[in-house]
Amino acid sequence: MRLLKDLFDNNRCWAKSMVQDDPAFFERLVGQQAPEFLWIGCSDSRVPANQIVGLPPGAVFVHRNIANVVRHDDRNCLAVLQYSIDVLKVKHILVVGHYRCGGVKAVLDGETSGLIGDWLRPIAEVEQRHRSVLDIHSNPDQRWDRLCELNVVEQTLSVARTAIVREAWVRGQELAVHGWIYGIHNGLLRDLDVTITGEEEVFSHTSRRVELLTQHFVAAR
Ligand SMILES: [Zn+2]
Repeated sequence: MRLLKDLFDNNRCWAKSMVQDDPAFFERLVGQQAPEFLWIGCSDSRVPANQIVGLPPGAVFVHRNIANVVRHDDRNCLAVLQYSIDVLKVKHILVVGHYRCGGVKAVLDGETSGLIGDWLRPIAEVEQRHRSVLDIHSNPDQRWDRLCELNVVEQTLSVARTAIVREAWVRGQELAVHGWIYGIHNGLLRDLDVTITGEEEVFSHTSRRVELLTQHFVAAR
C-alpha cells in the first residue's frame, strides 16, 4: 500500500529501455524542454497524450482536466497556456476530446450539482446552445458523441478567445489551435477541421464551423 513496488519496477525497466535505444536521451532532456505542441485533453485514463500521438518525453506540454474544458476563470489552465505560448513558444495547441466522455455524459444526464456539476457548466451551455443540432439524433449514444464533438469545437474557440492567444497572434507569433477527437473504441484521432491560425478566423468562421459539423453529422447518420 505504501510503496507501490510494481510501478517503480516498471519505471526502472522503462528508463533502462530508453537509454538502450538512445544512450543520451535523458541527458538531452536535462538541458531544456522545447515542445512544439500543447495538448489540452481529458483526464480520462484511456486517453494518454504522448502515447496516442507516439511522441517521447519532451515533445508535448500537457494539460488535462475533466472533459477538456477551457474556462477563462481557470488560473491553472491559463497559466499553462501562458507558459507554453510565451516561454516555450509552442506552435500548435491541440484541444483533444474523446468519444464516450464521462464528463459530457454527466451533462446529458443532468448531473449539475456539486463541484463536478459546477466544473462542467460550460458544457451544459454548449448543450443548450446547440440543442437543435443535438436533436437531429434520437439515438442517445449518437447524441453523446455529437456533444463530445461540439464540446471540442467550443473549447477550441475558447482557447482562441483568450487574451494570451490573441496577443500572440497580434505580435505575429506562429500559433495554430486545433480541435481533435479520439476514439476510445479504435484508438484513432480525428481532426474536426476547426483549426484556427489567426484572430480574424475566430469570429468569422465560428458559425460556419458548427454548420459544417452539422452537415457532417447528417451525412454520417
Ligand atoms: Zn473524458
